[in-house]
Amino acid sequence: MHELSVAQNIIDIVKDNVPVNNYTNVKKVLLEVGEFSGIVADSLLFCFDAIKLETPFKNAEMEIRNIPFKLFCNSCKSETTNTFGIRLCDKCKGYDTNIISGTDMKIIEVELDS
Ligand SMILES: [Zn+2]
Repeated sequence: MHELSVAQNIIDIVKDNVPVNNYTNVKKVLLEVGEFSGIVADSLLFCFDAIKLETPFKNAEMEIRNIPFKLFCNSCKSETTNTFGIRLCDKCKGYDTNIISGTDMKIIEVELDS
């Protein structure tokens, strides 16, 4: 399962960014997950909750914000979206677009209990 390795990566990143003596104080990990990132949020939550028990982050909750897929069209200068996750402008049907959001995953915040 893809989400299992993603959850493991998140734990590794938290480990690298939090001082060791604060590991057990990690209260929340806030993520942004794009609509077309290829990650199933529910599945990721499930995996994180399962593997955190084997780590010092037993008390950490994962919170996921879903980020919609957005494009900027260089031809008609509009911001559009579509339900396929493809780089097609919904207004002018052009393909000269840049993806603004919705295709990646980011750790936004790691909250510690003080
Ligand atoms: Zn356009």
